[in-house]
Amino acid sequence: MVEQYSCSSCGKTHQLTATIWKCDCGGVLDLVKDTPKIDVSTWNNDPNSLWRYINTMPFAKDSKTWESVTLGEGQSPTIVLDPSEPNTYVKVDYMMPTLSFKDRGAAVLMTKAKELGVSKVIADSSGNAGTAIAAYAARCNIACDIYLSDETSPKKIAQVKAHGATIKEIHGTREDIALAAQTAVNEEKVFYASHVYNPYFYEGTKTYAYEIYEQLKQEAPDTLIVPVGNGTLLLGAYYGFKELFENRLIEKIPKIIAIQAANCAPLVQAFEKGEAIAVPVTNKGTLAEGIAIAAPARSKQILAAVRETKGHFIEIKEDEILQAREQLADKGFYVEITSAANYAGYLKYQKGTNEKIIIPLCGAGIKSS
Ligand SMILES: *Cc1c(COP(=O)(O)O)cnc(C)c1O
Ligand SMILES: [Zn+2]
Repeated sequence: MVEQYSCSSCGKTHQLTATIWKCDCGGVLDLVKDTPKIDVSTWNNDPNSLWRYINTMPFAKDSKTWESVTLGEGQSPTIVLDPSEPNTYVKVDYMMPTLSFKDRGAAVLMTKAKELGVSKVIADSSGNAGTAIAAYAARCNIACDIYLSDETSPKKIAQVKAHGATIKEIHGTREDIALAAQTAVNEEKVFYASHVYNPYFYEGTKTYAYEIYEQLKQEAPDTLIVPVGNGTLLLGAYYGFKELFENRLIEKIPKIIAIQAANCAPLVQAFEKGEAIAVPVTNKGTLAEGIAIAAPARSKQILAAVRETKGHFIEIKEDEILQAREQLADKGFYVEITSAANYAGYLKYQKGTNEKIIIPLCGAGIKSS
């Protein structure tokens, strides 16, 4: 079980408490933990959710808190995109309880919140993370405030509201919204259920990699094409594959091809200039609201992960997004607009013969209009 956080910037360690969420220096916090020992023989299809991997997560041995928190998240299908391209798979994470991959992180994060005994959480989101946190907070009987832009897609706002969360609509940039939430967290001294800052979220999204490994019959794909705003799926998948690699279960960590919308692409710019950290940009407006993050707090970790795997970035123009959404729907997959940007990235990617590729389908089509 983890009791400590360490700062990714200055290295200082901090006691894990319900209210700490960043270092005094402003750096993001990671868990102080060893690489878990992965015993694949304990994964025998039970339960049929991401909780079959609980032994790899930083919870006390025999912790059963998750049993009252789970909504059945995880174990999404991994299927061939098109019979004519048998090495390209989509992983259908829109089949999660609140219809996006954020449930992976939210389930694990809120399980930790429940263990810490918190009575209220605050989160900010472009939509899907807020929905996921609201759903699991409801499940845990924990009060929840979600900070959102007043321009968030109405269907996502309706979803958050349905779970009984208090909505704080903010007029401003995504960064203004995060700041409003963080100010409230500090003033009210409550738990910041942030998918960006709280490292437990990544203990949930890392199961993405474990599932792929199981579904490809104990193999890693060559390449993962993954959308990136704050990098919660990208980093989670990277950590998961890294743990499999360190347990000598796979021979290499898949190459990460990271996709951003050209109109809001701070990571693309930093990657191309060879910089270690992304400089914030101005969001010029994109249909891909879920990845429109002008100042990603974990940019250093995201850039390092893409570089380590010898991957690269691809940026997507607005007109390519809607076309890609139509093409996916023509194959039977109806995704929200943000998720189509990632498929557009696949269409631009120069793949090799027999290259085994995974494309996440992150959010359901009915979430956007
Ligand atoms: C959250 C989200 C993303 C991007 O995830 P980040 O953690 O911001 O990188 C992409 N697509 C959908 C549908 C999302 O909900
Ligand atoms: Zn620090």
